[in-house]
Amino acid sequence: MSNYVNKDNGFEQAETITRECPHCGSHAQLLPVSTPSFEALNAHRPRHVGIGFRCAACGEPRFGRVAVRAFSPSRVELSSNVVEVERPLERFQYRYLPDAVERVFREALQCYSFGCYNAFASMCRRTLQESISDMGGNARMRWYELFKDVVRIGPIDTGTAQTLETILFGTESAIPELEADKAAVLIETIKDMVYQGYVRTSKLRAALKMRRYFAEEQANKVTSIDDHRAESA
Ligand SMILES: [Zn+2]
Repeated sequence: MSNYVNKDNGFEQAETITRECPHCGSHAQLLPVSTPSFEALNAHRPRHVGIGFRCAACGEPRFGRVAVRAFSPSRVELSSNVVEVERPLERFQYRYLPDAVERVFREALQCYSFGCYNAFASMCRRTLQESISDMGGNARMRWYELFKDVVRIGPIDTGTAQTLETILFGTESAIPELEADKAAVLIETIKDMVYQGYVRTSKLRAALKMRRYFAEEQANKVTSIDDHRAESA
C-alpha cells in the first residue's frame, strides 16, 4: 500500500494510521497536517521525507519519516510505512521512588524505549544497586524474592530467567547480551519488581495510615457521645 502526494499537493492516504501517543498515551489516529509539496519533492528527489501529524486525541504534534517510492508526472508515491521519530516512553509512577533510584530507573526505561537493550540491561542492574545502597540490610534478598515471584507468576522459562538473574544480580562485571525478546521480558519484570518494592509499599502504608486515622476519629466521636449521656444521666 502507498500514500501519494498529488500534483495539486493533495495528500492521499492509503489507510488511517493509529499509534500510541508519547504525549497522552492514548491509541489515537495520526492526522496529517504538514506534508511535502509536489514541487519540492520533484526538485530534490529525496529518498525519505518527513511528515508532520497531529494526535487526534491530544492535538500534540507527531513526526514521521517515510520512504519515497516513485515519481510520476501526476503524483509522487510514498510508502505507507510511517516510522515515528518520537517513540512513546515507558510510563511509571516515579514519584514513589527515592531520587537516586528514580534517576537511574528513569534512564533504564528510556534506554528500553529507544531500543538500546544492552544499555537498558546495565541500567536495570544499576537501579537495584542504587536501591540496595539506599535501603541497605536485607534489600538484596528482598529484591531477589520479588524477582523469583515474577518468575513464578510469569511463568518465565528457565533460560530467560537465568539470563535475567545474571543481569540483575550477577556479581561479574560482564552482563549477558540482550535481544528484543528477552528485553521485553526484562522490562515487565523490572517494572513489576520496582512497583512491588516501592509503589505498592508506599500506597499500602498511606492507605493504612488513612484508615487508622478515620477509625480513631470515629472511636473518639463514639466516646464523646457516651460521655455526654453519662453527664446527662
Ligand atoms: Zn496524544
